[in-house]
Amino acid sequence: MPTVFITGASRGIGRAAALLFAGHGYLTAVNYSRSEAEALSLIDEIRSFGGHAVAIQGDVSDFARCAEMIKEAEDAFGPVDTLINNAGISCDKLFTDTSPEDWSRTFAVNVGGAYNCCRAVLPGMISRKRGSIVNVSSMWGVTGGSCEVAYSASKAAVIGFTKALAKEIGPSGIRVNCIAPGVIDTDMNSRLSTDDKAALAGETPLCRIGTPEEAAEAIFYLASDKARFITGAVLNVNGGIVI
Ligand code: NAD
Repeated sequence: MPTVFITGASRGIGRAAALLFAGHGYLTAVNYSRSEAEALSLIDEIRSFGGHAVAIQGDVSDFARCAEMIKEAEDAFGPVDTLINNAGISCDKLFTDTSPEDWSRTFAVNVGGAYNCCRAVLPGMISRKRGSIVNVSSMWGVTGGSCEVAYSASKAAVIGFTKALAKEIGPSGIRVNCIAPGVIDTDMNSRLSTDDKAALAGETPLCRIGTPEEAAEAIFYLASDKARFITGAVLNVNGGIVI
């Protein structure tokens, strides 16, 4: 059975992805940073339908810990064939209020997390000549978002990272893609009021915001062999709000 490692999987898009992969028979390593109770309840839910999952605690911005986490997943389930770099943080501020610490932390998690986890899984994937990586960018990484300069820049970096790595490791049989979600109904958007969400839905050709499950379906597709001739792609999952 294939093994997947999903970062930031205790809630939101990562959680929906964990349920989807596990439901398709993947041995699923659920990374979480602080939400142990939510991660353990997700593991219970996956086991309740006969799926296989383990929870692995760790901060993706920690290079050494990422290496340990991949080893823990491989000790539990065997080689990690699929890596989903989903963990991310927002940084909603005027640029002139964005501190050096805000800037560094946003990049350490959103870009550094993908770097750290890829560094940890790739030696094994390259030696096996097999693997699939999906990174989670954002529509703001494509268009830039006002009052989200650090976040937008970090998500643009994820796109550059995806494309460059796809070129470098394609010959080793490994694909690297990313999704660029629009507005998805998760805790990350909990600051939005009902009116804000209605306004965003009104700007969206499909007339609503997205669900975590819809983002997870796109991740699953890109990760799977159904997308076996796709690498370096940025898949919009945004209801058409950005085309
Ligand atoms: P969320 O806040 O519910 O989930 C983010 C997850 O990442 C959480 O489980 C959190 O604990 C985890 N995380 C944060 N820092 C971490 C760290 N250092 N180490 C390990 N885990 C960490 O939000 P979400 O919407 O599910 O976000 C998932 C991804 O989707 C993020 O990368 C986000 O930037 C991206 N995204 C979300 C939207 C949206 O509208 N919700 C749009 C575009 C992109």
